Amino acid sequence: MAGGQFWNEIPKGCCWVGGILASVLGVLFLYRVVVRKRRRNGSECFKSMRTTKDEETRLANENGGGDFDVIVVGAGVAGSALAYTLGKDGRRVCVIERDLLEPNRIVGELLQPGGYLKLIELGLEDCVDKIDAQQVFGYALFKDGRNTRLPYPLEMFKSDVSGRSFHNGRFIQKMREKAATLPNVQLEQGTVTSLLEDNGTVKGIQYKTRTSQELTAYAPLTVVCDGCFSNLRRSLCDPNVDVPSCFVGLVLENCNLPYANHGHVILADPSPILFYPISSTEVRCLVDVPGQKVPSISNGEMANYLKTVVAPQVPPEILDAFVAAVDRGNIRTMPNRSMPAAPHPTPGALLMGDAFNMRHPLTGGGMTVALSDIVVLRDLLRPLRDLNDAPALCKYLESFYTLRKPVASTINTLAGALYKVFCASPDEARKEMRQACFDYLCLGGLFSSGPVSLLSGLNPRPLSLVLHFFAVAIYGVGRLLLPFPSPKRIWIGARLISGASGIIFPIIRAEGVRQMFFPATVPAYYRAPPVK
Ligand SMILES: Cc1cc2nc3c(=O)[nH]c(=O)nc-3n(C[C@H](O)[C@H](O)[C@H](O)COP(=O)(O)OP(=O)(O)OC[C@H]3O[C@@H](n4cnc5c(N)ncnc54)[C@H](O)[C@@H]3O)c2cc1C
Repeated sequence: MAGGQFWNEIPKGCCWVGGILASVLGVLFLYRVVVRKRRRNGSECFKSMRTTKDEETRLANENGGGDFDVIVVGAGVAGSALAYTLGKDGRRVCVIERDLLEPNRIVGELLQPGGYLKLIELGLEDCVDKIDAQQVFGYALFKDGRNTRLPYPLEMFKSDVSGRSFHNGRFIQKMREKAATLPNVQLEQGTVTSLLEDNGTVKGIQYKTRTSQELTAYAPLTVVCDGCFSNLRRSLCDPNVDVPSCFVGLVLENCNLPYANHGHVILADPSPILFYPISSTEVRCLVDVPGQKVPSISNGEMANYLKTVVAPQVPPEILDAFVAAVDRGNIRTMPNRSMPAAPHPTPGALLMGDAFNMRHPLTGGGMTVALSDIVVLRDLLRPLRDLNDAPALCKYLESFYTLRKPVASTINTLAGALYKVFCASPDEARKEMRQACFDYLCLGGLFSSGPVSLLSGLNPRPLSLVLHFFAVAIYGVGRLLLPFPSPKRIWIGARLISGASGIIFPIIRAEGVRQMFFPATVPAYYRAPPVK
């Protein structure tokens, strides 16, 4: 090529190459502007003040590039604890939560000591600090003017181990903040509308931002933690939900409970009433109302019910504060749901928290079960670096359903059985069972520490639960037959035993007899992690 020709050609080539470069840069610039704008207008990132995630990676993820290892739907108790746990283990986690403002609800306010131990295992124990949480050292049980203290058996633990009660929203906000401090956890506001499935494998989620933009995110594992009203669990389990009653919630101010730093259970008519501190100046009252309908709050029926039916059964020390709380009128209600865990193991997805399994909240066990499940899942996932083989992972994670059983089934069964025993009934046999249960717990020693350690999650042993339950029934029958059994008393005793069996056996059947009592005979118990 002659020199002149060369110099003639170069500028042409330069223009051509430069043009392409300029176009690419222009497109990239426009793309960044558009995506940034969409992001600013749309989904609100919880840690947007701290950092914003690389937009290119985000788009790659949306297009199935797999920027995340795990997607967590919902950042309530289970979702935020899970996001932190998996994030701490080095997973890239995307959490989509419908509302990142501090929740204000009457649920999840008393964490049992067994749940606190799980918080420690997960490194989340500081989430109960600086929220005015109160230590809880046990329960006090009231019936017909008598009462007894049932301390948690905490002698073998460090002094900070106890129950904790708090405002649920403050606790959740602390866990969300802690999860969001991890650079590999992205916490974003949005409502998940569906799971994205391909050939029976869940590949990710579709979600709507606050400005109604439809976005998608993909990951090899999606954990659905969208709570008790879950819309997404349908394809992942058999949601056999029962609503035996509702809780009516009030806050009592500046009053002293008869037993400081204790949960109080009143065996009232028609069903139990609970009191426990939720801050240094506030006491939560939860009144159980059987059935799915509660008296209307708006037309004053509820206030009337609380003053005429409930107030006469409230301990005198807190009666004035109770009436004042009714008069202040900030009355909230919540259905009490129970749902046995009945998963359809699905590649790419898992249920967790209330979306997966619920029990009556009388014994305050929901958060303990959720946190315990997270510990089980974390330990199962730890040996796996790659979660991409969805069918193999799904098969392996079937062991989760058995490994969680000792804790979950003990707490679930106790909650369901105790609720039934604690409800008032006109039936003589049920009355005897209720009284026998109160008197059995009043005996103290093993008779109170055994059931309390089951309830608190400190000793989750299903067999011990069944033994205590039938010991109560036999204690009731013994009292009926001694000193002189009459035909009527023998008949009531027989009905007491049959009633007790009718309470506990259906719950055990729903939990799964084999998984509950003989987990080691379930093949899934021994599943080894897929080799990859
Ligand atoms: C009246 C009552 C009292 C209770 N008291 C206690 C107690 O004292 N102690 C105890 O241990 N347990 C208690 N429980 C149970 C406890 O509240 C639950 O077990 C616990 O909150 C379960 O946590 P979770 O994360 O599954 O659900 P939640 O904590 O409810 O979290 C679900 C999250 O998912 C979000 N979400 C829902 N749908 C979507 C969606 N489509 N997209 C994105 N996000 C979504 C929600 O906004 C929410 O933040 C109580 C329950 C009730 C009903």
